[in-house]
Amino acid sequence: MKLKDKVAVVTGGNRGIGKAIALKLAQEGASVAICGTNEATLKETAAEIEKLGVKAFQQKVDVSKVADVEAFAKAVIETFGKANILVNNAGITRDNLLLRMSEQEWDDVLNINLKSTFLTTKYFVKSMMKARQGRIINITSIIGVRGNAGQANYAASKAGIIGLTKTTAREFASRNITCNAIAPGFIQTDMTHALGDQAKEALLKEIPLGFLGETSDIANTVAFFAADESRYITGQVICVDGGMVI
Ligand code: NDP
Repeated sequence: MKLKDKVAVVTGGNRGIGKAIALKLAQEGASVAICGTNEATLKETAAEIEKLGVKAFQQKVDVSKVADVEAFAKAVIETFGKANILVNNAGITRDNLLLRMSEQEWDDVLNINLKSTFLTTKYFVKSMMKARQGRIINITSIIGVRGNAGQANYAASKAGIIGLTKTTAREFASRNITCNAIAPGFIQTDMTHALGDQAKEALLKEIPLGFLGETSDIANTVAFFAADESRYITGQVICVDGGMVI
């Protein structure tokens, strides 16, 4: 119970990697607020969190919309009185080759992946500043580190998150708030489920450890960054990818 009495916020905490993160932080004793766009899965996951004996809060939020994020932050602070841990996990892909990529595909991915991280940080960091303690954990991707054909929008959004992470780390360090990024490799979720068997086999050849990652691999790393053990680490990007980026 390393996170007893802490309040954690997980965007996109209703399914996939975000759900695994929310449940892991709850297992460690934190109260957890989650947001997403699907009300049914938000309710289901909030109920699962409460079964672990901690408080849960859920709200329908489009993380790319300033009014939604501001209202979410207000509601979380009203409910729990504070936010100690912020995990920026919500994200989408809209893959296309650059020459075929539409402005809409570019804007949707940049807004939901990158702009959202700026907005949530802006509205949740105030509570951390008051407490002079906080943990911000941004989920980027190895695609933001190395690029990928067909993912110009996604790679740019995830590389942007890395720059934002380093700047956030510098701006809030004096308030004892750390900010780190986790770059997952290939993790089995709905996002990667769409890939065909051939693409998955080709990817496996690129993974030195020789197997696909699971959501728990990311959740365990988030739990480390959320806890006191990581207090002297800030502004870092850690790849959780079976060795794809070495
Ligand atoms: P999923 O597609 O399984 O889940 C995406 C999550 O984001 C859902 O909870 C979804 O909620 C939420 N979300 C999407 N759009 C919005 C929005 N506009 N407002 C609020 N919430 C939104 O993805 P993963 O779990 O696989 O990915 C989670 C994160 O990890 C993403 O940032 C992704 O880029 C990153 N990542 C994943 C990798 C992988 O291999 N899976 C590899 C590298 C990085 P809802 O359903 O309610 O819309």
